[in-house]
Amino acid sequence: MSRYALSIDLERCIGCQACVVACKTGNERPLGGNYIQIRDVVRGTFPNLTGTFVHQRCFHCFDAACVNVCPTGALYKQDGMTAVDADKCSACGYCVDACPFDVPHVVDNRVSKCTACLDLVKDGLPPWCVQTCPSQAIKFGEREKLLADAHARVAAIKPKRPNAQVYGEEPFGGLGMILILPDAPAALGLPENPQPSLALGAWQNVVQPVSIGALGAAIGVTALSFIVARREHNREEALLKAEEEAPHEHPDHA
Ligand code: SF4
Ligand code: SF4
Repeated sequence: MSRYALSIDLERCIGCQACVVACKTGNERPLGGNYIQIRDVVRGTFPNLTGTFVHQRCFHCFDAACVNVCPTGALYKQDGMTAVDADKCSACGYCVDACPFDVPHVVDNRVSKCTACLDLVKDGLPPWCVQTCPSQAIKFGEREKLLADAHARVAAIKPKRPNAQVYGEEPFGGLGMILILPDAPAALGLPENPQPSLALGAWQNVVQPVSIGALGAAIGVTALSFIVARREHNREEALLKAEEEAPHEHPDHA
């Protein structure tokens, strides 16, 4: 298996929050550190109302802004998903500003976001949310297969939901969380065409060069100190040698 993904069929989700609870308990999340949030979006006009439960969680962007800015390696890519090593987190919050979907948060000085339960996957088990969903709205597996399934599912619900579509196929190298939408993204509060955050551009254009410049300056200062110290050392050695070689004058001759 080369590239994993999750898929969520929002037409199937019944908003029971079982995935939220399973994720929270399975991953032992503290208060305020949930990886999944579910928004209830109501559309249409009374009495013709339609409700959809939209999941807010990490989209596991293939080219992930959070990974690109993380200076410590706390966020990294594994099998297409965006994995987390919270022990490496320095709580700098760069990922919080860089994520175009407003996903990661820093809780108790550690980055907090969906880890795709890669520790369970390694043991041959699906993520907690997938194990728990009573309506089988969430799947985990090979991305190519999930994408094909998602397109087939959209084709099946199109007669009832003409705006139905697959979300996440292209942006940021392809998302690792594919949504089956019953309506246009904008109607569900999702960006039609997600863009890299402005903070990422600033980070790449300003912070990184400044950091590299600062690193260069630090190296320069270190090198200069070394040269000065070595020159001083050589000068002292030469003086000492000259002193040793010089004929000793008798105090009486002074
Ligand atoms: S959605 Fe945000 S936190 Fe998740 S991989 Fe993309 S940039 Fe990172
Ligand atoms: S706060 Fe985010 S960017 Fe900073 S070290 Fe932690 S994971 Fe990396």
